[in-house]
Amino acid sequence: MSSDSEFVQRADTAVYETEEPVLYGVADGIATLTMNRPTVNNAQNSQMTYALDDAFRRAVNDDAVKVIVLRGNGKHFSAGHDIGTPGRDINKQFDRASLWWDHTNKPGGEYLYAREQEVYLGMCRRWRELPKPTIAMVQGACIAGGLMLAWVCDLIVASDDAFFQDPVVRMGIPGVEYFAHPYELNPRIAKEFLFTGDRMSAERAYQMGMVNRLFARDALEAGTYALAAAIAKQPRMGLALTKQAINHVEDLQGKRTAMDAVFAWHHFAHSHNELLSGDKLGGYDAKAMIEANKTAAGERR
Ligand code: ZN
Repeated sequence: MSSDSEFVQRADTAVYETEEPVLYGVADGIATLTMNRPTVNNAQNSQMTYALDDAFRRAVNDDAVKVIVLRGNGKHFSAGHDIGTPGRDINKQFDRASLWWDHTNKPGGEYLYAREQEVYLGMCRRWRELPKPTIAMVQGACIAGGLMLAWVCDLIVASDDAFFQDPVVRMGIPGVEYFAHPYELNPRIAKEFLFTGDRMSAERAYQMGMVNRLFARDALEAGTYALAAAIAKQPRMGLALTKQAINHVEDLQGKRTAMDAVFAWHHFAHSHNELLSGDKLGGYDAKAMIEANKTAAGERR
């Protein structure tokens, strides 16, 4: 019997709180993409991910756009992938951006492997490689899947209340799907960041070179758009070629191939979790992660 005969179509139970998970606007050569799920701290469901992909494509196709700013509505940039809001739509089918097949009716490890190739690793690579400069404007929380969105941008600008965190080692998983940690931080700091799952302050991230510029919260927007305006004065091809050049050097340094290897380990971890506990995330939903975070922080006090 082929395992293919064990297909089950999982129920899509998502209830969206908005039909506009991403807002889009253009002014003075700068496109602004705003994640717009503030009531759930901009947790990324597929609805938002595909809306982001559409918005990036729109910005690339508009010749009037020179620079793209990615930001989050509300108190936080992004709390990460949606692992527990009513709008969690992991079982919903979308028109895919890659040629991976639909995951929603697939068995075993194939289910998440196909999904994460498409919506996490694949999307992040598409966005990293789009030929216009991108700036992430980060306030408040930038956690796990939030890191992936900041990291695919060319520049990161943060307010002094911002913090960065990847706590997924608690789930038995070696970091988020877009494994850029040892490239964004030096390897020893990346290990500390992952081993402890602690928050890294914006100040520390700035010292490490992960953040380009740091502003007081009320100066963040002005600072970000001043930087974007300066870049927008440069010629389009000059910017595109420079971006390609630096991304190419990063890939020659192993970033792309390293990420492919870690993606496989990441999926071994999802499958291992499922074998042990029946849950790909090791039994952690959003609420359990928040509780575990609080406990861990309390123990270190
Ligand atoms: Zn995953």
